[in-house]
Amino acid sequence: MKTLDCLIIGGGFAGLQCAQRLHQAGLAVQVLEARERLGGRTRVAPLAGRTVDIGGQWIGAGHSELTALAQAAGAAIVPQYAEGARLLHLTSGHRDRVKRYRGLIPNANPLALLELDRAIRRLNRDSQSLSLDAPWQAAQASRWDHETLATWKQRHLRTRTGREIFDIAVRSVMTAEPGMLSRLGFLFYCASNNGFEALTSVEGGAQAATVGGGMVQLAEHLAAPLQAEHRVALNADVHRIVRTEHAWRVEDRQQRQWHAHRVVCALPPALQDRISVEPALPADRARLANRMPMGSVIKVVVAYATPFWREAGLSGEAVSHSLPFNTVFDASPREGATGALVGFIDGAPARHWSARPSEERRQAVLDSLVRYFGPQAAEPLDYVEHDWVTDPWSRGCYVGLMTPGLLTELGPALRTPWSGIHWAGTETATEFCGYIEGAIRSGQRAADEVLTALADRRR
Ligand SMILES: Cc1cc2nc3c(=O)[nH]c(=O)nc-3n(C[C@H](O)[C@H](O)[C@H](O)COP(=O)(O)OP(=O)(O)OC[C@H]3O[C@@H](n4cnc5c(N)ncnc54)[C@H](O)[C@@H]3O)c2cc1C
Repeated sequence: MKTLDCLIIGGGFAGLQCAQRLHQAGLAVQVLEARERLGGRTRVAPLAGRTVDIGGQWIGAGHSELTALAQAAGAAIVPQYAEGARLLHLTSGHRDRVKRYRGLIPNANPLALLELDRAIRRLNRDSQSLSLDAPWQAAQASRWDHETLATWKQRHLRTRTGREIFDIAVRSVMTAEPGMLSRLGFLFYCASNNGFEALTSVEGGAQAATVGGGMVQLAEHLAAPLQAEHRVALNADVHRIVRTEHAWRVEDRQQRQWHAHRVVCALPPALQDRISVEPALPADRARLANRMPMGSVIKVVVAYATPFWREAGLSGEAVSHSLPFNTVFDASPREGATGALVGFIDGAPARHWSARPSEERRQAVLDSLVRYFGPQAAEPLDYVEHDWVTDPWSRGCYVGLMTPGLLTELGPALRTPWSGIHWAGTETATEFCGYIEGAIRSGQRAADEVLTALADRRR
């Protein structure tokens, strides 16, 4: 059997970008993807006669590689609709009221706003002090890494309203509760993504624009030249990587085998332990698999006959501390008269609702929408959801979580190649970690490592 230059495990944006760069450089490559489709954590579904994203969706400000890819694929980049007021549902001090607001911060109790403003400025200041390549080297790294974001919140936010708004923001960005997250890990995530405000914003932020027709077409565009030469194998769930005398042998569960000089694992660390590596991986790299669990999210898109909330002066954006459907945006099509809302059940509520029957979950989502937007929300045209919590090839989403102690104890293992195995995937990104942009950049970095290593070998 021919020994390839490089095998890439994972057909998400990271793996495909890596494979495309190596293929363009003239290397013999093969992508091995466990699912029957490409795109990984991006996924589309039909809804009321059109295609909508039920995985990764937005192109954020500064996502230059993803923007270039969308342009190269000839896809329409559509600014996120954000005209009108936003809605905030809190239980603290507001007796279960939905409040309208404009701008980034809601008009809540002044004391809460003051301390939130201070807390955000502190987060941004601390995050700017980190090096993106090695946040574990910061002077305060150990102290920050062994404190959860929940403990930090208790110290810096005293009002119940301030704490609830902070929880909403963290849950919507990380799909996890502050108690699971390292303060250092969150500071790094902010630094990697242009700061706390950018993560939670539409204009100038991580939710700036979407791709007409859905995100998966961009993964397919990346894959097209590889597929034309049969360089992508679907339904190839790799379970074993074995060192042979001159190369690596990679096996999938259908007992197919491939050989290559280099292997790129382009999957989240939480999925790495499904693959046995012989000889065993270094302890730090192996431990990432159980120290970096995925967040929890269920994504839902609901279609309506009209975008009725716009007539009421609302942007469609809504967040809540206690309603199950806790983060919502407008997802109406540009053409035609119909409307749509897209949103998430994030964090601990996602695990609760994942275990409930789908009819009950659908009702909980519609009840939340009625609470935000009124009785018209009870009568959708169509409904689609994807439960990422139980998806076997993601084990949760959006991203692997930086739990306390992870970065200072195991951080260097995220990217350090070992014995011809390289690591890609958004979790390994320094810039735009957690996002498609980070996945693409990590794929480029891993490809460059392989090119350098093989060039040295040929000299
Ligand atoms: C609901 C949701 C909303 C999101 N929203 C956004 C957003 O708006 N904007 C944004 O930029 N990002 C968003 N993200 C995050 C974004 O989708 C991810 O950061 C990105 O897609 C990760 O790409 P990746 O290539 O690193 O990993 P993945 O996409 O996870 O790719 C890894 C691939 O490896 C495969 N695999 C796993 N194990 C094996 C194995 N043993 N053998 C072979 N193949 C294997 C998987 O099937 C998968 O295809 C969202 C994610 C979700 C789920």
